[in-house]
Amino acid sequence: MKTNYDAIIIGGGITGLALAFNMAKAKFGDILILEKELFVGSGATAKCAGGIRAQFSSKVNIEVSIKAIEVFEHFEEITGEPALYDQVGYTFLLTDETTVESYTKAFELQKSLGLDVRMLSPEDVSELAPPVRTDDIIKATFCPRDGLGDPHEFLQGYFRASKSLGVEILTETPVTGVLVTGGKVTGVKTPTGEFSSPLVINAAGPFAKLIGEMVGAKVHVEPYRRQIVTSGQLNFIPDTMPMVVDVSSGLYCHRESKGLLMGWADDSVEPGFDESQDPDYNDNILMKALDRIPRLETAEVANSWAGLYETTPDHNAIIGFADEVAGFFIIGGFSGHGFMHAPGAAIIATEMIAGQKTSIDISRLAPNRFVEGSIEKEVNVI
Ligand SMILES: Cc1cc2nc3c(=O)[nH]c(=O)nc-3n(C[C@H](O)[C@H](O)[C@H](O)COP(=O)(O)OP(=O)(O)OC[C@H]3O[C@@H](n4cnc5c(N)ncnc54)[C@H](O)[C@@H]3O)c2cc1C
Repeated sequence: MKTNYDAIIIGGGITGLALAFNMAKAKFGDILILEKELFVGSGATAKCAGGIRAQFSSKVNIEVSIKAIEVFEHFEEITGEPALYDQVGYTFLLTDETTVESYTKAFELQKSLGLDVRMLSPEDVSELAPPVRTDDIIKATFCPRDGLGDPHEFLQGYFRASKSLGVEILTETPVTGVLVTGGKVTGVKTPTGEFSSPLVINAAGPFAKLIGEMVGAKVHVEPYRRQIVTSGQLNFIPDTMPMVVDVSSGLYCHRESKGLLMGWADDSVEPGFDESQDPDYNDNILMKALDRIPRLETAEVANSWAGLYETTPDHNAIIGFADEVAGFFIIGGFSGHGFMHAPGAAIIATEMIAGQKTSIDISRLAPNRFVEGSIEKEVNVI
C-alpha cells in the first residue's frame, strides 16, 4: 500500500474534495484524502440547505462568493461533471430601520464590487415570492445571481473529477494524530497505519479544532447544532421563488422538491457535537415560517434533521498555514456558508499552497487573526 504523499487532506466534505480537485488540476503531486466516515460527504455538507449567495457585508466574503459562483455557473465545463445551479436568487426581507441601514451599506459595497443587486419594494417581493406576507416589509434586497444547488450533486462531481485526476480517497480512515518532527508536519496517524507527507491540510469542518489540537495549533472553530424542517407538497410555492431570508426572525426558506425547506440558527444553542434533534427547535422554525407564510397553516412536515455549523468568532472562514507548525494548512470555519464558498476558497487555497500571490486578498481570513485581536464580524449571516 502506498503511504507517501505530497499532500494529505483530512476530511472528505465539499471543502476537502473541492481543494483536492483544484490541487490535482494544478498538478500538485500525489494527494490523499482521509475521511473518517463510510462515505465522503457525510458531515456538515450532507445537512446543508444548498443556498448559494454573494450578498455578504464584507469585501472578502463577497469576492470569495463571486469566485465560487463563477464555478457553480460553469461546473460541468470545469470539472466534466454535471450539476445544476438553479439561479432563483436570494431576497433578504428588511422590516426595521436598523437592518435597512446595515443591509443598504452592504448593498452599496456589493454593487461597487460589480454585483447585480437590487433593492425591492414590498410589491416586488409579492411578485417574486407570492406566498410571503409583506405588510411589515420596508424594503428587501435581491441578487438574481444567487440561488440553490444540491450539495450532494456538487460534492459527487468533485469526488469523481478528483479521482479521475488521480486523487486517492480512503474512507473509514479517521486521522488520530498528526506527526511532527522538528517543528514540521511529516504525516498522519490512523488506525490502519501512518501516512507521510510534508503537507497536511485540515478540512475537517466542525471537527477542525480537534485536528488543530493534534499539532498544538489553535483553530478557532466551534461546532453549533442547526436544524432544518421540510414540508410536504405545496401548490403555492412557484418554481422560481428565491431563497427568502426574514432578517428580523432569522428564518430562511426555499422551495425543496415540491414543498418548502425551512431553517433558522438558534443562537441560544451551546457549542457541541450533539446532532440529535430538539423538537422545540423545530417548533420554533415552524412558528417563524407560519408567521411569514400564513398559507403554511395546512402544510405537513415531511422531514427534519440537525447538523453542525463550523463557527468562528467573526463568522468568517479560516484559510492559511498555521503559525505553530510548518506544513499545516487550515481551510474551514465557514460558519454556515461553506458549501457556497468551497469552490472559490479551494481555488485561493491552491494558489496559497503553491506559493503564488492569491487572486483575492484573503488576509482577513488568516488563522492568526484572532490572537491579533482585530475581529471584524460578518453581519449578513444566517
Ligand atoms: C443545517 C445546515 C444548513 C446549512 N446551509 C448552508 C447553506 O445553505 N449554504 C452553505 O453554503 N452552507 C450551509 N451550511 C454549511 C455547510 O454545510 C458547511 O459550511 C460545509 O458543508 C462545510 O464543508 P466541509 O467540507 O468543510 O465540512 P464537512 O462536510 O463536515 O466535512 C468534513 C469532513 O471531515 C471528516 N472528518 C472530521 N474529523 C476527521 C478525522 N479525524 N479524520 C478523518 N476525517 C475527519 C468528517 O467526517 C467530514 O466528512 C449549512 C450547515 C448546516 C448544518
